[in-house]
Amino acid sequence: MIIAIDGPAASGKGTLAKRLAAHYGLRHLDTGVIYRAVAYALISAGADLKDEAAAVKAAQELDPEIFDDPALKSHQVGSAASVVSAIPRMREVLVEFQRQFAAAPPGAVLDGRDIGTVICPNADVKIFVVADPRVRARRRTLEAQSRGEEADEATILADILARDERDQNRAVAPLRPAKDAYLLDNSDLDIEGGVRAAIDIVEAVRAGRQRV
Ligand code: C5P
Repeated sequence: MIIAIDGPAASGKGTLAKRLAAHYGLRHLDTGVIYRAVAYALISAGADLKDEAAAVKAAQELDPEIFDDPALKSHQVGSAASVVSAIPRMREVLVEFQRQFAAAPPGAVLDGRDIGTVICPNADVKIFVVADPRVRARRRTLEAQSRGEEADEATILADILARDERDQNRAVAPLRPAKDAYLLDNSDLDIEGGVRAAIDIVEAVRAGRQRV
């Protein structure tokens, strides 16, 4: 089974994807980390975030070992990733890696922006996670503070809105729900509530029921 989880920044899709993978015994890939790793490579090399040649090279040389580096988690690297990830040729380099990950047994949960639309258009279940931007900003602020980072909620909200705008309006693989995706709004749900709602969707699809 392949499950595609897409949604905007700080929507909680990452935690949800991880929990779904554990529940169904599937592998999990947080695809945002790939774009963050490319952005981080450019920042470290002092390259411009819009430098196509440098971005393509960084994507080709990507070492998955770096995916666990805590430096990738920062809000700044996330914003930089959203600039870099608008480069079509760089995205092309990363398509195969993601598809191979999804296709390997026993199946996988991938979370990102274009999993249901571009990477795995034939995923068994597609869920598009949304939440009110103010709720997302609050969660991201608490998360950053728990890592000991300085975090100003108003700045984070502005940044989230700018990131949504960039991700939704880029020419290639824009953030949008696939036609056959189920919408999950978790603004008023805690993590457990979101996980339960997602499992309900997966089970409904598996049971061959109509849209829920
Ligand atoms: O989800 P995360 O915040 O880690 O993603 C960082 C940035 O990487 C996003 O804002 C988005 O621009 C980009 N991204 C993407 N496609 C994906 C995952 C992330 O373009 N599948």
